[in-house]
This record gives sequence, structure tokens and C-alpha cells, in this order.
Amino acid sequence: MEMLTLLGATGSIGQSTLGVVRRHPERFGLFALTASRQVERMLADCLEFTPRYAVMADDGAARELRLLLTERGCATQVLSGVNALCEVAADPEATTVMAAIVGAAGLLPTLAAVRAGKRVLLANKEALVMSGELFIEAVHRHGARLLPVDSEHNAIFQCLPPELQQNPGRGSLVAAGIGKILLTGSGGPFRYTPPEELAAVTPAQAVAHPNWSMGPKISVDSATMMNKGLEYIEARWLFNAPPEQLEVLVHPQSVIHSMVQYSDGSVLAQLGQPDMMTPIAHALAYPERIGSGVAPLDFCRLGELTFMAPDMARYPCLQLAIDACTAGQGATTALNAANEVAVAAFLAGGLDYMGIAAVNETVVQKLGLTKVSGLDDILALDDQARRSATAIIRRR
Ligand code: NAD
Ligand code: MG
Repeated sequence: MEMLTLLGATGSIGQSTLGVVRRHPERFGLFALTASRQVERMLADCLEFTPRYAVMADDGAARELRLLLTERGCATQVLSGVNALCEVAADPEATTVMAAIVGAAGLLPTLAAVRAGKRVLLANKEALVMSGELFIEAVHRHGARLLPVDSEHNAIFQCLPPELQQNPGRGSLVAAGIGKILLTGSGGPFRYTPPEELAAVTPAQAVAHPNWSMGPKISVDSATMMNKGLEYIEARWLFNAPPEQLEVLVHPQSVIHSMVQYSDGSVLAQLGQPDMMTPIAHALAYPERIGSGVAPLDFCRLGELTFMAPDMARYPCLQLAIDACTAGQGATTALNAANEVAVAAFLAGGLDYMGIAAVNETVVQKLGLTKVSGLDDILALDDQARRSATAIIRRR
């Protein structure tokens, strides 16, 4: 039986993961569930799955949960804080870790799982964007297994030959006969909005994604296409892909989840409903296949599949991310941190929509050339970029 640590259990990916696990009780047990502070959701999931541990990042939330679980006679032990998150990710009893915390907060627990040589199911793209080479190096040094959960990267992974699947970030696309990785994205809710109306869009409009149901941060990132930019950087590291082998395509229907183009002219694609339970089930069971609960595609009802090049004037964040990827780790770390702060400010009503790209650009201009050579440097730059973004937002 696989024993699972689920980092970010109360979120969108966390709940979809539990949705798949619930269908296969003989196959998966829960070692630990973790969250930041959502006590009610955590209580219900602990009562249903009785994990050995429940970890809340927040101490107060942990105290509240402990009390409620004791009242109900549930044996789950409640821990709190970042160290506890790292401990349940690295514990010898956990075989598989789903990394589904949102943002930079996921880096240390995810790295703890990698360093303990776990099977790591990676949804938390920001962790890889922040730490790129260091992360991939740790995967190889500690013999971890890395399986992409992000739907595009999971699709690409499924279209790769086995020798590349088994060699994350180190294989040669060219030697495998691959010309290009085609990263598809829907273009978000504003792909047809006249540019002059973008300045006035609200958080509620930005999080209303036409095809996918996701957490608030990634929903805003999908609207700005920063999400595709982060995924471009994620693909660079996961698949050892240089810029000339990475192309972003807008595909409004979200049926094709990404493609791999081979030198003989063949293009392999993975298709499916826009439901994260498919890539989650794939990563959980790989190399086997299990039911996910997702309905099969009905091609007769699909209608047309269309594609277009992204309009960089509409999506300045996408261009910023592609440029940062070429510039290096300092730029991608600074951009990721600035974006987290800018998106949080936008969601809280403290920054206009166009301000997200403006803040990101200013922070990258200021800090993007910072040299980083280890985890301490990365965390220091992340902190500096957050402070810089906060100051810029205050001045606006
Ligand atoms: P979400 O906001 O719905 O959930 C985030 C989870 O992380 C919650 O359980 C929350 O409690 C926890 N968390 C937040 N801050 C924390 C902190 N400081 N310390 C510890 N835990 C913390 O987010 P989501 O949409 O599920 O996304 C999770 C990750 O998966 C993100 O990196 C996102 O980019 C990636 N992803 C999500 C989707 C999707 O469909 N939702 C698709 C692809 C990739
Ligand atoms: Mg994605």
C-alpha cells in the first residue's frame, strides 16, 4: 500500500487528490494531511481518512483542530509549523508525497520530500520555478522519483519516451528525436476582452476561469498567463528544454493538455476533460492506470479545437516569465516572489489588474540579475523581492 503525505490537502488539488484516493482505499493510505489554517475542512478529512498526522502551518489553527479531533475520539496527531510540514514529508513511513501547497511556502516541505528520496508528485510549480537546478540536482542525488501533476507537464510526460520519463531534467530531447514541446493554455477569461477594458477587471472576474476550477492564486495567474509563464520555466527544468524547444500555444477549449512534436513530423498529444483528477490519478498510479472518476471525452460533442499564438501585448506577464527563464535563476525567483505579492494584493483589492505586470516588471528589473548559488540565497532573494513588491504597491 502507498502511504501518502498530502501537502496542501484543503486546496483545490488537495481535494481532487482525496477524490481519487477515496475511490482506491485498497491502494492508498494517508500518512499525513497538511494545510495552512482551514480547520473545518481538515476536521472533516481527518474524520474520514484518519491519517497518522494532521499538520497546520498555523499554531492557533492546530490548537483548534486538536481540540475538535479529541472531542470526536479521532486518533490523528496534530502538529504545527514549517518544521512539522518538512518532517511529515520526509518521514520513512510516507512513500509518496503530493506537493500541492500554493506558492513559495511549498518549497521547503517539497524539498524535504525530495531529499528523503520520495516519490514526489509535483503540483507546486512555484517550488521548481524558485529553485530549478538545485531542485533537479536534489532529485538525482537522493534518488527521488519526480512525477508532474500540472496538467500540461503531465501531458508532456505522457508523450515522452520511457528513458526521458525516468530521467527528469537530465535527458536529451534532441537525442530522443524531439523537436519541440508545445505548451497549451486556454488564454484565461480575458482572451477576447478589449485591451482598454482590462484595467477595470475585478478579482471576481479574474478568478472565473472558463474551463478549470482552481485555487484563487493560480486562477489569477491563468488570467494574466503568468501561469503559462511559470509553466514554461517549469518545463525548462522538468524536461531539460532550451527556449528554442519550447512554444506556448493558446488553445481556448482546454481539451489538448499539451503536445510533443517529433523530428519525423509526428505530434503526440494528451487529451481529456479539464479535470485535475486525471493527471493526479496518472501520477498516483504511474506506471499503472487507475480510475479517476473523470468522464470520458465525447468527441462528437466537442466541436472544434482551435489554436493561436499568444498575444504578448495582452499577456505581458507571459513575456516577462519567458525572458526571466533566459536570464536565469535570480530573475525567475524574483519574478515568482513579486507575482505572489502582486496577485495577493490584487485579490485583496489593493492593486489594479494591470498593476500585476507592472509590479512584476519593476521587481525583475531591480533584482533579476542577483546571483544565487544555494537555498539560502534563493530564500533571501525571495524575501527581498517580496519586500520590494510590497513597497512598490504601497507607492502606487
Ligand atoms: P489552493 O489555494 O486551492 O490550496 C492551497 C493549499 O496550500 C491549501 O491546502 C492551503 O491550506 C495550503 N497553504 C497555503 N499557504 C500555506 C502555507 N503558508 N503553509 C502551508 N500550507 C499552505 O491552491 P491550488 O489551486 O490547489 O494549487 C496548489 C498548487 O498546485 C499551486 O502551486 C498551483 O500552481 C498548482 N496547480 C494547481 C492546479 C489546480 O487546478 N488548482 C493545477 C495545476 C497546478
Ligand atoms: Mg497547468
